[in-house]
Amino acid sequence: MEKKRILTGIRPTGKLHFGHYFGAVCNWVKLQDQYQSFFEIADVQALTDNFNNPEKVRMNVREVTIDLLSLGIDPKKSTIFVQSTIPEIAELTVYYSNLVTMARLYRNPTVKTEIKQKKALFGNTGESVTYGFVGYPVSQAADITAFEGACVPVGEDQLPLIEQTREIVHKFNTIYGETLVVPEPVLSNNPRIKGLDGNEKMGKSLGNAIYLSDTREDIEKKIMSAVTDANKIRKDDPANPDVCMVYYYHKLLNNPNIKTVCGECKNGARGCVTCKKELIEVMNAFLEPIQKKRYYYETHPKEVDEILIEGSRYARQIAKSTMNNVRKSMQIDYFNEEI
Ligand code: ATP
Ligand code: MG
Repeated sequence: MEKKRILTGIRPTGKLHFGHYFGAVCNWVKLQDQYQSFFEIADVQALTDNFNNPEKVRMNVREVTIDLLSLGIDPKKSTIFVQSTIPEIAELTVYYSNLVTMARLYRNPTVKTEIKQKKALFGNTGESVTYGFVGYPVSQAADITAFEGACVPVGEDQLPLIEQTREIVHKFNTIYGETLVVPEPVLSNNPRIKGLDGNEKMGKSLGNAIYLSDTREDIEKKIMSAVTDANKIRKDDPANPDVCMVYYYHKLLNNPNIKTVCGECKNGARGCVTCKKELIEVMNAFLEPIQKKRYYYETHPKEVDEILIEGSRYARQIAKSTMNNVRKSMQIDYFNEEI
């Protein structure tokens, strides 16, 4: 029996951070053994809000691919491909855009939050939100369905987008007949990783991330300024670890010493500086093997390009076959030969 398919993606808007790894990618690494997996480098989606910065998107296509490979996505088991090399995704987006109203897109909670964040960061006015950005959930529905993705492993912020895909698929299948696979989201054990500033989401575009490629000095600087319990003034004041980002990352990284960290924090036996220094060590030990692999791929760029070329070619074949089915269902398969 054929394995079920997974489709998920990552936007080439910056290198990967802890949020990506613990929130999503660690799950992708496990799932690639059970599913036929497709990992999309979503450059078209990245361009929706970075259209005026093509250099950034171009550079990060390779950076994100290198991060995925360093974290354990195995090109022998999985397909990594670039979204813009698959024109069928753009074609599907056009047809799906008839199946969703503007009001529904504006109501999408993820789109709403992202528009709000952009306004807070850049002081954007309502007018500067483009048609392409508001419509990106439609293009994401095209990504998922082009590969008949039955499961979509993502972080929690993506759930409203998958719900929107499910609605589009239902509508398509109702109007044109059963054609598309209805996808299910799959969450990791930590579906929403918080940022250094205590923000509910660590995000590339939010300036609160620890990157998997950060140097020892970067890590030291970031952890030393991470948000801790504001009520702890002196070193020996008892504190509440549950409001402390340093404790949060100790837990995330599975520090074997976690019980001591928690106990000493609560009874005032540990100062924040000691606690931060311990975290820096734990973090660097975790990052060492990942960064070694990263160095290998950074120094073998041809290998990275070959993985993307081969992956994109294979992905295109699958998308073409879905597109043929869609054309048939929509009665726009006028001729028996390719034009
Ligand atoms: P951008 O700000 O450009 O949207 P991002 O940091 O949100 O970047 P994406 O490429 O949009 O990253 O997300 C890739 C995947 O990583 C998605 O499945 C998303 O849900 C997951 N992810 C990103 N940040 C987090 C986080 N802080 N916690 C859990 N999952 C996350
Ligand atoms: Mg995002």
